Amino acid sequence: MDDIIHLLSDAVANQIAAGEVIQRPASAVKELLENSIDAEATQIQLVIKDAGRTLIQVCDDGKGMSFNDARLCFERHATSKITKADDLFAIQTKGFRGEALASVAAIAHVEIKTKRAADEIGTRLQIEGSVVKEHAPIATQDGTIISIKNLFFNVPARRNFLKSDATEFANIEDELNRVAIIHHQIGFTLIHNGKTILQLQPSNLKQRIVAIFGNNLKDKLYPIEQQTDFIKISGYIGKPENAKKKKSEQFLFVNHRYVRHNLLHFAIESAYNQLIPEGHHPAYFISLEVNPASIDINISPTKVDVKFQNDRLFFGVLNASVKKAIGEFSLVPQLDFDYNQELDLNNVPQNAPLKVPTIQLDPNFNPFSSNTNHPSAFSKKEARGIQNWDNFLSGIKATHVEATPTENNPVELDFDENAEDNLPSVESYLIVYQKYLVVTLQNQLLVIHITRAQERILYDTYLEAIKNKPITVQQSMFPETITLSAAQSEMLLEINDEFKKLGYDFEPINRNQFAINGTPSSEDENGDIQAMVENLLDDYKSNMMSYSVERDKNLALSLSKQKRALIKPLNNVLEVNAFLQQLFATILPSITPSGEKIYEIMTEETVNKIFV
Ligand code: ADP
Ligand code: MG
Repeated sequence: MDDIIHLLSDAVANQIAAGEVIQRPASAVKELLENSIDAEATQIQLVIKDAGRTLIQVCDDGKGMSFNDARLCFERHATSKITKADDLFAIQTKGFRGEALASVAAIAHVEIKTKRAADEIGTRLQIEGSVVKEHAPIATQDGTIISIKNLFFNVPARRNFLKSDATEFANIEDELNRVAIIHHQIGFTLIHNGKTILQLQPSNLKQRIVAIFGNNLKDKLYPIEQQTDFIKISGYIGKPENAKKKKSEQFLFVNHRYVRHNLLHFAIESAYNQLIPEGHHPAYFISLEVNPASIDINISPTKVDVKFQNDRLFFGVLNASVKKAIGEFSLVPQLDFDYNQELDLNNVPQNAPLKVPTIQLDPNFNPFSSNTNHPSAFSKKEARGIQNWDNFLSGIKATHVEATPTENNPVELDFDENAEDNLPSVESYLIVYQKYLVVTLQNQLLVIHITRAQERILYDTYLEAIKNKPITVQQSMFPETITLSAAQSEMLLEINDEFKKLGYDFEPINRNQFAINGTPSSEDENGDIQAMVENLLDDYKSNMMSYSVERDKNLALSLSKQKRALIKPLNNVLEVNAFLQQLFATILPSITPSGEKIYEIMTEETVNKIFV
């Protein structure tokens, strides 16, 4: 019998490779844009027709190609970017596999016009389904114009598989954004069916983000910056209060390449633990620069996945840096880190456990004192936070309402920084819908969600009780008992010491019963403790599973949630003022520990707008 194995023709091999590299018009767009960037273009124009079905054209002012290179670039494994396998560990370019143009040429009608600045004449080449139709000198501008027409003309299955124009074009925009964000120093233009969709001037990263995602993102970002021996982290992260239900504003770049990486994504999101509601996601635009030898980008043909030699290490550094950025720039001036100012992440031994900074409460902090003479050792950076805080609360920062403040001349009283209670007090208040406390401070209306504020106050008190000032236990004369499941009992035993610091004395009687020997002295504990403990343990467990919250924070979180509804009603202006004092002395008065909004400030302007 005859032998049956034979080598595939280049055209067929390329068409097969194209199946992996070019899945849809957006994949071709990505490859072309990356080639222009590798060619050091400063301006790139992307012209699309019919969501890329009929035309994808990229025009750049980059290096261009010689007459012969213009032919060679369409061969498989033809690249100018690496020569030996070792080069793979020092990749600085987007491309290196040398298969994009060969793939595209196998499944479309491609025309290239290119010229190097030093050459007098340029080159035009036309190729259809891997067959060269024309290759000739031509007058053309410096740089490269590559046009892909009739994509998938010979692969009907792929063509039929494409989604609606709207979807395919959205994919193209996504690919452009991924490239344009991180290469913000390059100008980009996007034209679709003759209409200019996007025009991006060369700019810095923040301007680029705002140019793409809109002006309203401008004030919603904190910078992130960290440099160590093995990684440079830079970029912007979204403020916790602006987290959204969608993940569309999340961009991670490694060595200037957009990548997906679940673990690092988690490192970023988990830094927001308890600052944003469940199901919400922060925006981030984070760039990691690492030694190319410490990563492998060549694990998928589209190079969107990346493997790190030591994920754990990168996880720790990234998580710590995001936490630091949130703390440093948030409105919470009393955030303080275990680390002294700069995270010292240099020279971390490869397998050393990383200590992640934690947030600490400065119990002496009063947001209403002016910012010159703060109790703890605030650094300059933290002082910046304080200014923000002051601006934020400027409306409610001043005063006893004595002189009638006019709009243009609001009364600003200096508070005595050393006075204990220099929070301006209110003289009247309203409680509406049995839920909200409404007060006015100077010209501003403050609407406070009472139970949420209560949750915040309790959380901070509990955390402080566990760490420093235990709550006194009121011993019971006739201890009741509670009965729990085996799993619940085990969990209660585990947190029993912390529980005691919160004023609860539970003594195990047998495998699933506990005597309640005491409850917090400060409360009339006439609620149903059995139900309280069960709910609390449920909550505790789910916090542990979904966020891996530390034990004391978790307990404080779960208990404050259980107790927040049990607040005694606010009966008079004295109680209201005490309540406001307590709230604004907490670590983060504007958001509950589980991430819900606590109050809204309405300026006179906002109220006026209602009546325009
Ligand atoms: P790779 O990018 O992996 O090298 P490609 O098939 O995408 O493979 O491109 C092959 C080669 O063609 C590149 O290495 C580069 O030398 C050249 N090339 C492609 N596009 C351009 C461009 N816009 N300007 C200049 N050279 C280009
Ligand atoms: Mg390429």
